[in-house]
Amino acid sequence: MTFINKQGYWISENGWRMCDTAELDYTPVPGTSFKLGVRKGAPNIILKAAIARLHREVEPMITSQIGCYTGTNSMPNSNHNSASAFDYNWDKHPYQEWGTWGANRSKVDRIVADFRGILEFGGNWTSPRDEMHFELHFAEGHAGTEQLATDLRNGLWGIWAPGQAPEPGTPSTPIPDGYLQIGSEGDQVRKLQVGMNKVFPNYRAMPLDEDGIFGPMTAAAVTEFQQRSLIGADGIVGPETKARLATYGIVLDGASAPTSPPAVPPAFVYPSTDEMTKQLWEQAFGPQAKGWPGLFGTLADGSRGKYPVEAVADLHENAGL
Ligand SMILES: [Zn+2]
Repeated sequence: MTFINKQGYWISENGWRMCDTAELDYTPVPGTSFKLGVRKGAPNIILKAAIARLHREVEPMITSQIGCYTGTNSMPNSNHNSASAFDYNWDKHPYQEWGTWGANRSKVDRIVADFRGILEFGGNWTSPRDEMHFELHFAEGHAGTEQLATDLRNGLWGIWAPGQAPEPGTPSTPIPDGYLQIGSEGDQVRKLQVGMNKVFPNYRAMPLDEDGIFGPMTAAAVTEFQQRSLIGADGIVGPETKARLATYGIVLDGASAPTSPPAVPPAFVYPSTDEMTKQLWEQAFGPQAKGWPGLFGTLADGSRGKYPVEAVADLHENAGL
């Protein structure tokens, strides 16, 4: 099994399945002899191309300070855990420090712009600032990401001569047995879409295309179903979600619907105020409330941050309202 649940997550923050080292490609960064394990396929091509350009055009790499894959991470759904991100010369660009690229910053920005929005730079974030960090922006299966990898293999920017790039690398193991998630295809996905359209026509993502391809809208519908069913909301259909769907007559894998009513789940317990504050901000502004300096305080390092009402009051005051 090379796609695994890590620290409670099946996919990392950017939508790539969590993996172990069997999914890494250790071919060298092009133009160098430095071997680095990066997620097979498009991430390996795109992220190594980015490292090669930073090395060639901006700042020579210090190979002891470049990393991609982590087995575990202080951020449980980190994109390092799915090997779809890398850090570059980390002692020169410490976490949470601003301006570490100095006069070279415009060169970094130009390289990032060349990657068509597919390469995200942590130096554009404000909370947390992460100037060592680069990652794939789109989830696994994004057509533009695959196209960029193909273009790089065909000689884009002269990083690889055509035919010299590492293999495209299809994942060595498909979706974990029995799980449906972004990227899954087939009859079970189609049954899920047909069943959810019929039973839950008022969900926000409805109607779903009944095409048997599990994309972001299907994931959103599954997440809403999980939230409203009081089961773990991750947008992935595993055994618990399947069983719960079956109680609504949405049966995916040939088993018949249950003949007795489901057990009533335990009463919902509200999370702490701090946890709700964090979730509100993340729902509004994304993980770690990226892009909202000041408003969110310093939650990333464990302290509470401001409550929404305080932050909104600040916002009004700053805007002269
Ligand atoms: Zn990083």
